[in-house]
Amino acid sequence: MNAALLDVKSVSKSFGGVQANQNVSMQVPEGRITGLIGPNGSGKTTLFNSIVGYHPIDGGSIRFEDREISKLRVQQIARLGLLRTFQQTRIYSKMDCVKNMLISVPHRNATFSDMFKPYPPDLTEKAEHLLEFVGLYQKRHLVSGDLSFGQQKLLEFAMALMNEPRVLLLDEPTAGINPTLINGLIDRLKLANTEFGITLFVIEHNMRVIMNLADSIYCLAHGELLAHGSPDEIQGDQRVIDAYLGAH
Ligand code: ADP
Ligand code: MG
Repeated sequence: MNAALLDVKSVSKSFGGVQANQNVSMQVPEGRITGLIGPNGSGKTTLFNSIVGYHPIDGGSIRFEDREISKLRVQQIARLGLLRTFQQTRIYSKMDCVKNMLISVPHRNATFSDMFKPYPPDLTEKAEHLLEFVGLYQKRHLVSGDLSFGQQKLLEFAMALMNEPRVLLLDEPTAGINPTLINGLIDRLKLANTEFGITLFVIEHNMRVIMNLADSIYCLAHGELLAHGSPDEIQGDQRVIDAYLGAH
């Protein structure tokens, strides 16, 4: 099953005079883990924002399962099963982990008074199961503000899984996480891919992580596609090495 589930074709996006993405094409095959790297400011987050409908694109097309999605809104795209996580976590720090998990699932046809009703037990069970999956079961009743930054990122990952995404876009999942938690997170990402069948598209700054995780890697530089290949090909690509060296 290697058909491109997500097909980005010649996408361009500028902010005023800044050309954040120029003519970018990428394919994310179903059931795989695809990586996206590039120096700071090369347009990685902008591309993710375009894919999930955060802003309109200037040109090009974005297809998800052969359906053009570039004109859809964030909620419509999320409902198709295309979700993202953020570089900065977005959790409610005064709520406990289970509650954060429960409110991450949009309630269809929910009214204001529904907010005060108990959540269905099966949803709570699912939340606890996923908290166990990311290693936070023991901490499920702690307010999430008391978790370490790395644990908050694991919680955010579990919150995304609550929604059963088909494709999950992760923006620098290991940024700011202490090295001992990083290996655990990599294992969980791989398991989400193999066990739950979730297609992953991952922006990552840590080269060791992305080389270990991805089946194939795209590299952006100055908003344009610089290279695409297997981890080995990318690691040995002089243009990629130069782009990173030139950025420091
Ligand atoms: P990366 O994620 O690779 O670090 P970004 O996509 O965040 O890069 O940024 C690419 C370029 O677009 C940068 O020059 C950045 O300043 C600019 N940019 C991104 N988002 C906005 C925005 N909302 N308004 C103006 N400029 C932006
Ligand atoms: Mg970014």
